[in-house]
Amino acid sequence: MALDDIVARIRAAEAKAGRPTGAVRLVAVSKVQPLDRIEAVLAAGHRLFGENKVQEAAGKWPALRDRFDGVELHLVGPLQTNKARQAMQLFDCIETVDRPKLARTLARLSDELGTCPRLMVQVNTGEEPQKAGVLPGDADALIAECRTLGLPVVGLMCLPPADEEPSLHFALLAKIAARNGLDELSMGMSADFERAIAQGATYVRVGSAVFGERVYG
Ligand SMILES: *Cc1c(COP(=O)(O)O)cnc(C)c1O
Repeated sequence: MALDDIVARIRAAEAKAGRPTGAVRLVAVSKVQPLDRIEAVLAAGHRLFGENKVQEAAGKWPALRDRFDGVELHLVGPLQTNKARQAMQLFDCIETVDRPKLARTLARLSDELGTCPRLMVQVNTGEEPQKAGVLPGDADALIAECRTLGLPVVGLMCLPPADEEPSLHFALLAKIAARNGLDELSMGMSADFERAIAQGATYVRVGSAVFGERVYG
């Protein structure tokens, strides 16, 4: 299946970049995909998935977790504060922390719930007005604020502009992570994950190349 091809390409890109085998993990982004495609990828043994909407994830993953052990779920889409509690209970990692208000809400809820998923800060490397993510110039301050709040920030995530060379954005994200002592880099999708691995990605988020084209509606 396509999953095997993508995993093989990840291993090859790791080797080419002189990185250890397994340094990069595949987040299979299953948003909008029909259940049978998701089940096939689970049956093949894959366990790490990404969703971009809390509501959609809530509708399918609790039942899938009952049937398949060891599922790890990442939120890769924007998070509204009023959905933060549900997201914290559903996801193992929230990759899209992008503003102080959300950080403060997550901190308050983690006190209340006694636990918090791992977190990444999303950086809007292209400074696109319509896109989520903290601006690169504000990233250090947001990371520092998260740490002051005691939040478990492990890395950074970005979604480069569609019409620009992504490698420049990946390199910028890696630089911000390095100067803040953060190990994880979630970057690279179906069209550019090999370039992201060359720039140090530790997670690649691949949807259509694993599952097939998304069919909306
Ligand atoms: C949909 C999505 C992906 C996967 O995109 P593909 O091009 O299908 O690989 C990755 N990251 C985010 C944030 C997404 O919303």
